[in-house]
Amino acid sequence: MRRPFVAANWKMHKTVQEAIAYAHDFTPRIEAVPNVDIVIAPPFPALPAVVEATASSRVGVAAQHVHTAPDGAFTGEVSLRMVQAAGVTLVIIGHSERRQLFGETDADVNTKTRATVDAGLTPIVCIGETLEEREANRTFDVLDRQVRDGLAGLSAGQIADLVVAYEPVWAIGTGRNATPVQADEAHRHIRQQLTSQFGDTAAACRIIYGGSVKPGNVAELSARPDVDGALVGGASLDPVSFAAIVASSRPATV
Ligand code: PEP
Repeated sequence: MRRPFVAANWKMHKTVQEAIAYAHDFTPRIEAVPNVDIVIAPPFPALPAVVEATASSRVGVAAQHVHTAPDGAFTGEVSLRMVQAAGVTLVIIGHSERRQLFGETDADVNTKTRATVDAGLTPIVCIGETLEEREANRTFDVLDRQVRDGLAGLSAGQIADLVVAYEPVWAIGTGRNATPVQADEAHRHIRQQLTSQFGDTAAACRIIYGGSVKPGNVAELSARPDVDGALVGGASLDPVSFAAIVASSRPATV
């Protein structure tokens, strides 16, 4: 049984002070929820403060983006080595906003994913089709390409520990989530692609859903057999709402 995994992507929201206040409000709310891996991805300036404020809880802290060079002349970038030294243990890679607004390619995703794994951190690799691609019946082709090229060169063992986030671009921040059937179908397809690329260890890889997840829809989404949790944007900004999502995200069988 794969352990459910629920992550908050705060994007470019919250000052250091707001992040600390959130962490102090949030952590007691999830203490009693068993069997779920819980992650928060704050903006860079708040990473050390959130690591410290969540240190005695079960919450892991992720960076939303990294540069793979250890240091150098890369104005505005933050390295994997720096976030790791700040106590971060996971990295979100290939979010559709990074792909669409900052030109990240599958090759970039591959470089970052491999460097993240090599550094001993857990990548949360985001994939997903646009509305145009879905309407042109190209969803599975796009997902296959993103998995094949984004994860090329990883070993079967490394795939088992990685998290893939299926985030249909048309569902992110739009209030329009994929139906549980659509999500399940995409997740099943992604797992088939992972299995053909990496063999049976792909069964251990968590595939989580992202796109307008809220307290009111997370239970039916995560009840689907191939949905292993959620990556949550807007609804994770409020600690009460994110705690409710965590509490409702466990499949009944866990
Ligand atoms: C996201 O940005 O990863 C996301 C899923 O956002 P939202 O929940 O706001 O759709």
